[in-house]
Parts: sequence; C-alpha cells; structure tokens
Amino acid sequence: MATYTIAIVGAGPAGYFAAQALQNLQNEELTFAIDVIERLPTPWGLVRSGVAPDHPKIKTVSKVFEKIATAGNLRLFGNVELGRDVNLEDLKSKYDAVVIATGTSIGRKLGIAGEGMPGSLSAAEFVPWYNAHPDFKNLEIPLDCDTAIVIGAGNVAMDVARMLALNPDELDPTDTATHAIAALKKSQIRKVYICARRGSENASFTSPELRELPKLEHTNVIMHKEDIDEAILAAGDEPEKDVKNNLDAMRAIAEADPTHHERTLEFLFHHVPKEILGSDRVSEIVFSTPTGEKKIPAGLVITAIGYEALPLEGLPYEKGKVLNADGHVSENVYVVGWAKRGPSGVIGTNKSDAAVVMQLLAASLKEPKNSGDINDLLAAHPVITQTHWEAINQAEVSQGEPLGKPRIKFADRDELIEIAGL
Ligand code: NAP
Repeated sequence: MATYTIAIVGAGPAGYFAAQALQNLQNEELTFAIDVIERLPTPWGLVRSGVAPDHPKIKTVSKVFEKIATAGNLRLFGNVELGRDVNLEDLKSKYDAVVIATGTSIGRKLGIAGEGMPGSLSAAEFVPWYNAHPDFKNLEIPLDCDTAIVIGAGNVAMDVARMLALNPDELDPTDTATHAIAALKKSQIRKVYICARRGSENASFTSPELRELPKLEHTNVIMHKEDIDEAILAAGDEPEKDVKNNLDAMRAIAEADPTHHERTLEFLFHHVPKEILGSDRVSEIVFSTPTGEKKIPAGLVITAIGYEALPLEGLPYEKGKVLNADGHVSENVYVVGWAKRGPSGVIGTNKSDAAVVMQLLAASLKEPKNSGDINDLLAAHPVITQTHWEAINQAEVSQGEPLGKPRIKFADRDELIEIAGL
C-alpha cells in the first residue's frame, strides 16, 4: 500500500472537487494524504466570496465541501499564502504532487479611457465587497448617484446589477456583508443599466437567472421588445437549445405588463463601451450603438467582462490562465478549475474537470517520497485548521440565526483569526 502526499492550493470549489476526486481514487493499494492550503482564514472560495447572497441554494454545495474536508485524509492550512508563507518550490519538494486551484481573481479590463477613474470598478472588487471578503471590506463604493451601469452580459453582470437594483431590505435574510447591507440601504441608485456589446441572442446569461428576474418584487425589469424580436430573427429557425431558452425567457420579460416600482433594471443590447467621462469621478459613459454614439450619465460603472488569474511566482501563464496540458503544468504540478480553463462554467463544472486531472496525476505517480510536512515552514504562523474553521463557521451561524440569516460573516482577517481561537 502506498500513501502519496498531495498539496492543493486553494480551498474553493476546484480545490475541494480535486480532493474529492483523489478520495474517490483511493483503494486498498493507494491512499492520499491531502493538505489544502488557502490564503484566507476561511475556505469555500467563490461559494463564500462569489455566489450572490440572494442565491442561497447555490451555496448548499458547501455541505459537500465539509464532507470532503472531514473524510479523514484532509488537513486545512488556512491563512497560509503561496508566495508569502510558503513557495511553490517548497511544496514541490515536500509533496508528491501539487495541485493549483487558485481561480481567477483579477477582473478583465475594457482598455478604454477613463477606466481607472473613481466610480469605475470591476465585479472582481464589488462582488467580494458585498460578500465580506477581508481584502475588500474597506472599499468605498460610490452609491450616492441615481444611475449605475453594469457592462457585460454574463451571470456575474446579472448578479451585480440585481444587487444594485433590488430593494436592500430583501438582503436582510441573507448573508450579505453587514457593511454592504448598510451601504446599499443608503444607496441613491434607482436606475441600473446592463449594457451588452452584442445582441441578446449572444448573451451569456443562463435562462434560470433570466427567469428569476420577474420575481424581483420591488424592481421594474425592462427589456425592449424590438431587441428581442431582432435577436429571435438573428438566431434563425433552429437556434441552439440554450439560446432558445434564453430568448424565450427574455421575450417573457419584454412582453410582461410594465410595473411601477421606484427601482429599475434595464437591459441595453448592442452598446459597445468606448469611453468613461468625468472630471474627478465617473459622470458619463460613451457607447457606440447601431444608431450612432450615445452618452449615458451615470456615477458608477461596474465591469463584469470576465476574469484573469493573478500570476503566482514559479507558474507559467498564458491568456490569464496557468499554461497547462490537460491540467499538467510541469514536473509534479497540476492545475484545476478556472486557473486551468479560464472563468467559465458553473460550480459543478469543476467536479468533472478535477476528476479528469486527478486521474492524470494519479497515473503519473511513482514511489511516494515526500513527507508532506510543512509545519517547519509555518512554525510562528497562525494556521487555520479545520477545527479552527469550524469554530468560525459556528460563530457566524450562531450570530445570524436569531436574525433569520444563514450567517453573519466576519469580514476582518484579524477578527476571523481571533474567533478561531488563535
Ligand atoms: P461570461 O459568462 O463569460 O460573460 C462575460 C460577458 O462579458 C460576455 O457577455 C462578454 O461579451 C462580455 N465582454 C467581454 N469583454 C467585453 C468587452 N471588452 N466589452 C463589453 N463586454 C465584454 O463571464 P461571467 O459573467 O464573469 O461569468 C463567469 C462564469 O461564471 C460563467 O460561466 C457564468 O455562467 C458563471 N456564473 C454562474 C452563476 C450562476 O449560475 N448563477 C453566477 C455567476 C457566474 P461577448 O460575448 O460579446 O464577449
């Protein structure tokens, strides 16, 4: 019987599904001792910091992660950052294999004038802000204007626009960061545009998310019928199933009776962003449209146009991803999830993807030779173990429960470490 030591870097969906795939490969001859290394004091990655708080069902996958975490052969090393507390060379020499599952945390840029101005930010900042990610808790989001523009036609743009356009009282029973609920309750924003650069037949929204929009109780949702009619024509007689489902959902929105709430979410298609204008902060966005140039006044613009991986020392990158061949990077290093494939697919996509890469990893293993012991590197460092995390988890759930929330998240790194008892 052989036991191999594996380091997985990143405790998000891709990391946990990689661990699960390794657990599933175990038999009487083969076992794995898995260490999951995570830079935050909390695990679950995008399930904690990315999924919209008004979508609690999607977060139930965290129960699967906890099952994987407590299966017996996995140790959590939270609050340990690759490149700061340990480096890749350490991991390569101390483990039989290293799996990178660090995702794509940087928002893609439009590359247009004015993008760096106050009032212009990326979903890669706004989303972790409302989800209580410690690195973003102090972000100042200018919500003192009446109009916000979200650029992009994917599910992240939809999440961001919905969070800005819903009545913030609807967030009370959610685990939205306390600072974000307070700020959104003071928000002056009453009009949110989602601007897509192509027609609705090319939008990347998925139909369940579109079908949910009319259920917003305090927001007018506007799609223009002529946009959808034009898209139905452009999609032809036999559109792909996903496109047809999307267009059906969009047509239902476009044809619904108008509502008269204080807040409005409006979809604009064929709006290509050209420039962000303003003197000391964003005041207008210039678009090119089929009928010519159009300026829309807005005090906040959020881009949701995809993500790139944050480069880590020792790893090769290409086009915002870790350069890899079917998940193999080099020597005993592998990559899974969005760091491997780029930012596409739902949480479950990472399960099948990680399973294939872990088979490749297992097939390449020779004699086990590395101890998997990194404690000497972390002697003076506060490491969040699974037991510590369970204390944090319990504390968050306990303070949420009396208020009818699934949890109230601690957003401060030092506070998280203190709650853990370190
Ligand atoms: P996405 O689905 O790839 O959408 C990105 C959008 O940005 C596209 O509409 C794209 O338009 C647009 N875009 C790219 N570059 C642009 C530019 N320079 N100017 C204007 N628009 C530009 O990405 P995402 O929304 O970040 O989502 C990532 C993945 O997570 C997706 O698979 C998504 O379904 C998933 N997700 C799922 C959920 C859920 O299930 N509820 C929630 C959030 C995210 P073009 O098509 O024209 O390039």
